[in-house]
Amino acid sequence: MPAAPKSAALQPPPAPLLRRAGEVLAQLKTAYPGARTELEYRNPFELLIATVLSAQATDKSVNAATPALFAAYPDAAALGAASSEDVEPLIKSIGLYRTKAKNLVALSALLVERHGGEVPNDFEAVVALPGAGRKTANVVLSNAYGLAAIAVDTHVGRLARRLGFSVQTNPDKVERDLQALFPSEEWVFLHHALILHGRRVCTARAPLCPACTLSALCPKVGLDLVPPEAG
Ligand code: SF4
Repeated sequence: MPAAPKSAALQPPPAPLLRRAGEVLAQLKTAYPGARTELEYRNPFELLIATVLSAQATDKSVNAATPALFAAYPDAAALGAASSEDVEPLIKSIGLYRTKAKNLVALSALLVERHGGEVPNDFEAVVALPGAGRKTANVVLSNAYGLAAIAVDTHVGRLARRLGFSVQTNPDKVERDLQALFPSEEWVFLHHALILHGRRVCTARAPLCPACTLSALCPKVGLDLVPPEAG
Protein backbone atom coordinates (compact mmCIF):
# COMPACT_ATOMS: atom_id res chain seq x y z
CA MET A 1 0.00 0.00 0.00
CA PRO A 2 1.51 3.44 -0.90
CA ALA A 3 1.83 5.88 2.01
CA ALA A 4 1.28 9.62 2.40
CA PRO A 5 4.45 11.72 2.50
CA LYS A 6 5.83 12.08 6.00
CA SER A 7 6.27 15.66 7.15
CA ALA A 8 9.63 15.28 8.89
CA ALA A 9 12.36 12.82 9.70
CA LEU A 10 11.22 10.61 12.56
CA GLN A 11 12.97 9.50 15.72
CA PRO A 12 11.94 5.97 16.75
CA PRO A 13 9.49 6.24 19.67
CA PRO A 14 10.38 4.54 22.98
CA ALA A 15 9.46 0.85 23.22
CA PRO A 16 6.87 1.24 26.03
CA LEU A 17 5.00 3.88 24.00
CA LEU A 18 5.06 1.65 20.91
CA ARG A 19 3.74 -1.24 22.97
CA ARG A 20 0.91 0.87 24.40
CA ALA A 21 0.05 2.15 20.92
CA GLY A 22 -0.29 -1.45 19.77
CA GLU A 23 -2.60 -2.24 22.67
CA VAL A 24 -4.74 0.82 21.93
CA LEU A 25 -4.97 -0.24 18.29
CA ALA A 26 -6.11 -3.73 19.30
CA GLN A 27 -8.83 -2.27 21.54
CA LEU A 28 -10.00 0.06 18.76
CA LYS A 29 -10.22 -2.89 16.36
CA THR A 30 -12.49 -4.68 18.78
CA ALA A 31 -14.61 -1.58 19.43
CA TYR A 32 -14.86 -0.31 15.82
CA PRO A 33 -14.40 -3.18 13.37
CA GLY A 34 -14.54 -1.95 9.81
CA ALA A 35 -14.48 1.74 10.81
CA ARG A 36 -14.87 3.95 7.72
CA THR A 37 -15.81 7.48 6.78
CA GLU A 38 -19.39 8.55 7.50
CA LEU A 39 -19.39 10.87 4.49
CA GLU A 40 -21.61 9.55 1.69
CA TYR A 41 -20.12 9.51 -1.83
CA ARG A 42 -20.19 7.44 -5.03
CA ASN A 43 -16.87 8.36 -6.63
CA PRO A 44 -13.61 10.24 -5.88
CA PHE A 45 -15.06 13.56 -7.13
CA GLU A 46 -18.01 13.37 -4.72
CA LEU A 47 -15.68 12.37 -1.87
CA LEU A 48 -13.43 15.35 -2.57
CA ILE A 49 -16.37 17.75 -2.61
CA ALA A 50 -17.89 16.24 0.55
CA THR A 51 -14.54 16.40 2.34
CA VAL A 52 -14.03 20.07 1.50
CA LEU A 53 -17.57 20.77 2.71
CA SER A 54 -16.94 18.88 5.97
CA ALA A 55 -14.36 21.38 7.27
CA GLN A 56 -15.80 22.79 10.51
CA ALA A 57 -19.11 21.03 9.77
CA THR A 58 -20.65 17.70 10.73
CA ASP A 59 -20.70 14.77 8.31
CA LYS A 60 -24.48 14.65 8.89
CA SER A 61 -24.96 18.21 7.63
CA VAL A 62 -22.77 17.47 4.60
CA ASN A 63 -24.67 14.26 3.80
CA ALA A 64 -27.94 16.19 3.98
CA ALA A 65 -26.76 18.72 1.39
CA THR A 66 -24.74 16.71 -1.12
CA PRO A 67 -27.52 14.74 -2.88
CA ALA A 68 -29.07 17.94 -4.25
CA LEU A 69 -25.64 19.41 -4.99
CA PHE A 70 -24.53 16.34 -6.96
CA ALA A 71 -27.88 16.14 -8.76
CA ALA A 72 -27.38 19.71 -9.99
CA TYR A 73 -23.62 19.40 -10.59
CA PRO A 74 -22.70 15.73 -11.15
CA ASP A 75 -19.07 16.21 -12.15
CA ALA A 76 -16.14 18.59 -12.20
CA ALA A 77 -17.08 20.01 -15.61
CA ALA A 78 -20.56 20.98 -14.40
CA LEU A 79 -19.46 22.39 -11.04
CA GLY A 80 -16.44 24.14 -12.52
CA ALA A 81 -18.69 25.98 -14.99
CA ALA A 82 -21.14 27.13 -12.27
CA SER A 83 -21.08 30.44 -10.46
CA SER A 84 -20.55 30.34 -6.72
CA GLU A 85 -23.82 32.28 -6.30
CA ASP A 86 -25.65 29.34 -7.90
CA VAL A 87 -23.95 26.85 -5.62
CA GLU A 88 -24.45 28.77 -2.37
CA PRO A 89 -28.17 27.97 -1.88
CA LEU A 90 -27.44 24.24 -2.16
CA ILE A 91 -24.91 24.26 0.67
CA LYS A 92 -26.33 27.08 2.77
CA SER A 93 -27.01 24.76 5.71
CA ILE A 94 -23.26 24.10 6.03
CA GLY A 95 -20.90 26.47 7.85
CA LEU A 96 -18.70 28.83 5.80
CA TYR A 97 -20.86 28.14 2.76
CA ARG A 98 -19.86 31.23 0.79
CA THR A 99 -16.16 30.47 0.96
CA LYS A 100 -16.81 26.79 0.33
CA ALA A 101 -18.96 27.56 -2.73
CA LYS A 102 -16.13 29.61 -4.21
CA ASN A 103 -13.62 26.85 -3.47
CA LEU A 104 -15.81 24.10 -4.93
CA VAL A 105 -16.21 25.97 -8.21
CA ALA A 106 -12.52 26.87 -8.38
CA LEU A 107 -11.26 23.40 -7.52
CA SER A 108 -13.63 21.78 -10.03
CA ALA A 109 -12.42 24.14 -12.76
CA LEU A 110 -8.83 23.22 -11.86
CA LEU A 111 -9.65 19.51 -11.99
CA VAL A 112 -10.89 20.04 -15.55
CA GLU A 113 -7.97 22.26 -16.53
CA ARG A 114 -5.16 20.17 -15.03
CA HIS A 115 -6.50 16.64 -14.56
CA GLY A 116 -9.12 15.98 -17.23
CA GLY A 117 -11.93 16.43 -14.70
CA GLU A 118 -10.70 13.53 -12.54
CA VAL A 119 -9.40 13.62 -8.97
CA PRO A 120 -5.67 12.91 -9.32
CA ASN A 121 -4.18 10.02 -7.38
CA ASP A 122 -1.41 12.35 -6.32
CA PHE A 123 -0.99 13.84 -2.86
CA GLU A 124 0.69 17.10 -3.87
CA ALA A 125 -1.85 17.71 -6.67
CA VAL A 126 -4.81 17.35 -4.28
CA VAL A 127 -3.16 19.52 -1.60
CA ALA A 128 -2.79 22.26 -4.23
CA LEU A 129 -6.55 22.44 -4.93
CA PRO A 130 -8.49 25.43 -3.50
CA GLY A 131 -10.09 24.56 -0.15
CA ALA A 132 -8.12 21.34 0.14
CA GLY A 133 -5.09 20.73 2.35
CA ARG A 134 -3.16 17.91 3.87
CA LYS A 135 -6.18 16.58 5.80
CA THR A 136 -8.41 16.64 2.72
CA ALA A 137 -5.76 14.97 0.59
CA ASN A 138 -5.30 12.23 3.19
CA VAL A 139 -9.06 11.58 3.46
CA VAL A 140 -9.62 11.55 -0.30
CA LEU A 141 -6.58 9.53 -1.31
CA SER A 142 -6.94 6.97 1.48
CA ASN A 143 -10.64 6.33 0.88
CA ALA A 144 -10.68 6.65 -2.92
CA TYR A 145 -7.30 5.22 -3.87
CA GLY A 146 -6.08 3.20 -0.89
CA LEU A 147 -3.24 5.52 0.12
CA ALA A 148 -2.00 4.81 3.65
CA ALA A 149 -2.68 8.09 5.47
CA ILE A 150 -3.78 9.55 8.79
CA ALA A 151 -5.94 12.63 8.31
CA VAL A 152 -5.75 14.66 11.52
CA ASP A 153 -8.99 16.46 12.25
CA THR A 154 -10.13 17.88 15.57
CA HIS A 155 -11.07 14.44 16.96
CA VAL A 156 -7.85 12.71 15.92
CA GLY A 157 -5.74 15.56 17.30
CA ARG A 158 -7.57 15.67 20.64
CA LEU A 159 -7.40 11.90 21.15
CA ALA A 160 -3.74 11.74 20.15
CA ARG A 161 -2.96 14.28 22.88
CA ARG A 162 -5.18 12.72 25.57
CA LEU A 163 -3.77 9.28 24.83
CA GLY A 164 -0.25 10.66 25.21
CA PHE A 165 0.71 9.93 21.60
CA SER A 166 1.50 13.55 20.76
CA VAL A 167 2.00 16.84 22.57
CA GLN A 168 1.52 18.82 19.36
CA THR A 169 -1.41 21.02 18.37
CA ASN A 170 -0.31 21.43 14.75
CA PRO A 171 -2.14 18.69 12.76
CA ASP A 172 0.87 17.99 10.54
CA LYS A 173 3.01 17.34 13.62
CA VAL A 174 0.34 15.15 15.22
CA GLU A 175 0.19 13.20 11.95
CA ARG A 176 3.96 12.73 12.07
CA ASP A 177 3.81 11.46 15.67
CA LEU A 178 1.04 8.96 14.86
CA GLN A 179 2.85 7.78 11.74
CA ALA A 180 5.84 6.93 13.94
CA LEU A 181 3.73 4.89 16.38
CA PHE A 182 1.53 2.83 14.08
CA PRO A 183 2.29 0.65 11.03
CA SER A 184 1.28 2.29 7.76
CA GLU A 185 -1.25 -0.43 6.92
CA GLU A 186 -3.22 0.60 10.04
CA TRP A 187 -3.26 4.37 9.41
CA VAL A 188 -6.58 4.52 7.56
CA PHE A 189 -8.34 2.35 10.14
CA LEU A 190 -6.77 4.33 13.00
CA HIS A 191 -7.99 7.61 11.52
CA HIS A 192 -11.59 6.41 11.23
CA ALA A 193 -11.60 4.62 14.60
CA LEU A 194 -10.26 7.67 16.46
CA ILE A 195 -12.92 9.85 14.84
CA LEU A 196 -15.69 7.46 15.90
CA HIS A 197 -14.25 7.20 19.42
CA GLY A 198 -13.98 10.98 19.61
CA ARG A 199 -17.59 11.43 18.59
CA ARG A 200 -19.08 8.70 20.76
CA VAL A 201 -16.87 8.42 23.86
CA CYS A 202 -13.93 10.81 24.10
CA THR A 203 -15.83 13.96 23.26
CA ALA A 204 -14.24 17.38 23.61
CA ARG A 205 -16.19 18.55 26.63
CA ALA A 206 -17.48 15.39 28.30
CA PRO A 207 -15.20 12.37 27.80
CA LEU A 208 -16.74 9.19 29.19
CA CYS A 209 -13.53 7.86 30.76
CA PRO A 210 -15.11 5.38 33.22
CA ALA A 211 -16.93 3.65 30.36
CA CYS A 212 -14.10 3.94 27.84
CA THR A 213 -12.57 0.77 26.42
CA LEU A 214 -9.19 2.53 26.39
CA SER A 215 -9.33 3.73 30.00
CA ALA A 216 -6.72 1.33 31.38
CA LEU A 217 -4.32 2.27 28.56
CA CYS A 218 -4.92 6.03 28.56
CA PRO A 219 -3.00 8.62 30.62
CA LYS A 220 -5.91 11.05 30.03
CA VAL A 221 -3.53 13.92 29.36
CA GLY A 222 -5.02 17.35 29.98
CA LEU A 223 -8.33 16.18 31.39
CA ASP A 224 -7.69 17.94 34.69
CA LEU A 225 -8.22 21.09 32.61
CA VAL A 226 -11.83 20.14 31.82
CA PRO A 227 -14.07 22.03 34.26
CA PRO A 228 -16.45 19.76 36.24
CA GLU A 229 -19.54 21.59 34.96
CA ALA A 230 -18.54 20.67 31.39
CA GLY A 231 -19.57 17.06 32.01
S1 SF4 B 1 -9.93 7.17 28.85
FE1 SF4 B 1 -10.93 9.19 28.68
S2 SF4 B 1 -9.38 10.51 27.73
FE2 SF4 B 1 -8.73 8.39 27.38
S3 SF4 B 1 -9.55 7.87 25.36
FE3 SF4 B 1 -11.04 7.19 26.88
S4 SF4 B 1 -12.52 8.88 27.09
FE4 SF4 B 1 -10.66 9.68 26.09
